[in-house]
Formats: sequence, structure tokens, C-alpha cells
Amino acid sequence: MEFIIKTGRKEEIIDITKQVEEIVSKNKEGKACLIYCPHATCAIIINENYDKAVQEDILNYLKKQIPQGIWKHDNNDGNADSHIKASIIGPSQLVPIGQGNLQLGTWQNIALAEFDGPRERKIIVKIL
Ligand code: ZN
Repeated sequence: MEFIIKTGRKEEIIDITKQVEEIVSKNKEGKACLIYCPHATCAIIINENYDKAVQEDILNYLKKQIPQGIWKHDNNDGNADSHIKASIIGPSQLVPIGQGNLQLGTWQNIALAEFDGPRERKIIVKIL
């Protein structure tokens, strides 16, 4: 199964937990759920679902560590920092399924981390 997320900003973290849970609810026999984005400048992240400041802190941390405009690829299409951030976090997460539900912690959600928006992003979800 897959779905599309339209991002609205250059960098943002968008909660996709509900969309993934809906897919898991139709495939309750699975043991794990793979969430994957087939893109080079965004990533899938699992982290805090309550205080939005955590998401801002993550984006600000990456922005400080990986500045724009100093990389070889910036001479090409100018988004080298987006590629590096996406590579560090990675394009996928694997979450165990127990009794038909994602085994996320109380304070965890699944999110798309956009580093080069706004764009349309495809999310592929496989129940394993
Ligand atoms: Zn590029």
C-alpha cells in the first residue's frame, strides 16, 4: 500500500501515524510494518508525538550541523544539505506489530521529515 503526502515548506516534520495505522488495521496478521519513502531528500523518522518543540529542535539541530551552500552538489541543484540530512536519518523505519497494532511507545509517532519541499512525497507501507 502507499499514499501521498503534500509537504508545504522547505523543511518540516509531518505526522503520518494515522495513515500507517489505517493500513495496519487492514492487515492484522503482520509481524512488522515497513514504512519507506522512495526519495533522496526526505526521510522517515520516529520520535516525540506531544511537544512540537522536539520536531523544531530536530530540524534546527540538523540545520546547524549541515549548513546550506558549502557542498559540491550545491553547484548542481543546490540542495546538498537536503541529501545529507535525508541520508543520515534514512528512508525507512520498521515497527513491530503486536495483536494487530503498531507497537509504538506512548510518546512516539511516525513522521515524514521533509528537507527539500514543498513537494509531493510517496510513502510505501509494507506489512511483513
Ligand atoms: Zn540534489
